[in-house]
Amino acid sequence: VLRIDDLAKSFGTMRAVGGVSLSVGPGEFVALLGPSGSGKSTVFRCVSRLVRPDAGCVYVDGQRVDTLEGRRLRRQRRVMGLIFQQFNLIGRLSAIDNVLAGRLGSIGTLRAVLRAFSREDRQLALAALDRVGLLDKAYQRADSLSGGQQQRVAIARVVAQQSRIILADEPVASLDPAAAENVLGLLRSIAHEQGIAVLCSLHQTDLARRFADRVVAMKNGCVVLDAPVAGLGKEELTAIYGNGSPSAV
Ligand code: ATP
Ligand code: MG
Repeated sequence: VLRIDDLAKSFGTMRAVGGVSLSVGPGEFVALLGPSGSGKSTVFRCVSRLVRPDAGCVYVDGQRVDTLEGRRLRRQRRVMGLIFQQFNLIGRLSAIDNVLAGRLGSIGTLRAVLRAFSREDRQLALAALDRVGLLDKAYQRADSLSGGQQQRVAIARVVAQQSRIILADEPVASLDPAAAENVLGLLRSIAHEQGIAVLCSLHQTDLARRFADRVVAMKNGCVVLDAPVAGLGKEELTAIYGNGSPSAV
């Protein structure tokens, strides 16, 4: 579904990403690992076109998307569900309105616009909240939910958006271990059940081993490891982080 080919991005003289290639197939959960500053977020920002890559290509379903502009870029963005460390919900809106807002594909959301959603849209949003176990919180304000619950609303939003690709940049970095496992378990089962391609950056190698199908590790802007989790030794993963403890990075 998603293929990144020789992607490069520099900020001034700082080479953040230097020729990264990777792909994520349908129904595959790929963990993107690497120490702080290795370029993970820059890869996400280039793929979602929050920044423009200097070189390289991004393909979605075989179609090149890194050169799209305007309306085609906006349509393409809807195919990609973005999930961030800081949830990125609109706090004063309810969970269900946050899920619906994802379908608008823009930030300029007003209650008036939300009211225009059809009964079917609302059913779809409720089904997505049910999928992440939050049906009972649908009408609660987003900022009254716990961190783990807010991240699950963000997942419901990309599910309702019917994204083919989920790009999750450190989705569990600000969650406690139990909530982190819950969120990763959800992303994994959504990937497997709905054939969605999930690329998810993480700092904990143990979580990558438990939840991901494949691990891609970066160092200094380059891919240093790309391997299925099955058969990956603990040592190979810890080596990415040098001597430091991976969980503490
Ligand atoms: P972390 O694990 O801490 O989130 P990361 O792997 O996501 O790190 P990036 O955020 O991609 O790393 O950053 C890669 C490098 O690019 C870093 O050295 C960073 O300082 C630099 N960088 C990223 N964005 C910018 C920017 N907008 N301007 C200048 N330098 C940047
Ligand atoms: Mg980052």
